[in-house]
Amino acid sequence: MTAAVIDGKAFAEGLRARVGGLAAAFEAKAGRKAGLAVVLVGEDPASQVYVRSKGKSTVEAGMNSFEHKLPADTTEDDLLAVVAQLNADPAVDGILVQLPLPAHIDEQKVIATIAPDKDVDGFHVINAGRLAVGQPGFVPCTPLGCLMLLKDRLGDLSGLDAVVIGRSNIVGKPMAQLLIAESCTVTVAHSRTKNLAEVVRRADIVVAAVGRPEMVKGDWIKPGAVVIDVGINRVAGATEGKTRLVGDVDYASAAAVASAIAPVPGGVGPMTIAVLLRNTLVAAYRNAGLELAADAV
Ligand code: NDP
Repeated sequence: MTAAVIDGKAFAEGLRARVGGLAAAFEAKAGRKAGLAVVLVGEDPASQVYVRSKGKSTVEAGMNSFEHKLPADTTEDDLLAVVAQLNADPAVDGILVQLPLPAHIDEQKVIATIAPDKDVDGFHVINAGRLAVGQPGFVPCTPLGCLMLLKDRLGDLSGLDAVVIGRSNIVGKPMAQLLIAESCTVTVAHSRTKNLAEVVRRADIVVAAVGRPEMVKGDWIKPGAVVIDVGINRVAGATEGKTRLVGDVDYASAAAVASAIAPVPGGVGPMTIAVLLRNTLVAAYRNAGLELAADAV
């Protein structure tokens, strides 16, 4: 069997187009554009790239992008004051503080200061709690993007066995919650899991979010399973001095067994920003008291 390739890039483009259409409708109804504020502290090159790319995508979707670039030596109090000002600003529907923050700033304290209804990253404990108890809130972008790809591929997920490898607050745990809500039977594996290969072999759905290059091998995969690879790992390339991106799954061997697989790059990666735009749009409709159908995006 050769697995079908789950084309996250194409799905993300479609999602961005739907968000763009609804953002234009929002502007017509609300008399203003939806707005996303992104706060970057310091000059981490990867974070700068992410922030630029988020800003560009936000504007392309017909929403306002407010970028706040603060020096690396910004104090925690000053950052909290910026967040408080964005919380109070009616032009701002979503707030994203780019992580990681410099070591002298307490990330949890900053996240806790973001108004939960503007927390489009879904990292605030209120939103984690809402997800856990099944109330509407904001779900972290990467796992929500994975769920969209899975539902697009499989339709109804109920009764399927899902294994999530990784238990971070950003990916693994919210992914598990989303799959429970879809009535999957969910196992969450992590660094202490015994017989990981055997655990993974039970799964109809495998989501790998570990951060270890090509750790999940083809002979761990049940024939016909659907594999979502969240990992982004940079490894040495074939040419000296060059690097390449690989996932947490050994693509070639897994693709020989799975029915479908999301590759790296081009699978989950493009979904994250598309879902961020989607969450910002949903925030704008809610903040303005406007109706948006649950299945609109
Ligand atoms: P974390 O480092 O926060 O979590 C990694 C998880 O993997 C932990 O729960 C850890 O277990 C588990 N783990 C580590 N080693 C093993 C092992 N040998 N066997 C089984 N489990 C193991 O990472 P994130 O969740 O933030 O990210 C995971 C990956 O996804 C990374 O490659 C990251 O770059 C990528 N990523 C991609 C995004 C995208 O947009 N596509 C967005 C976010 C992340 P334990 O808890 O026991 O330590």
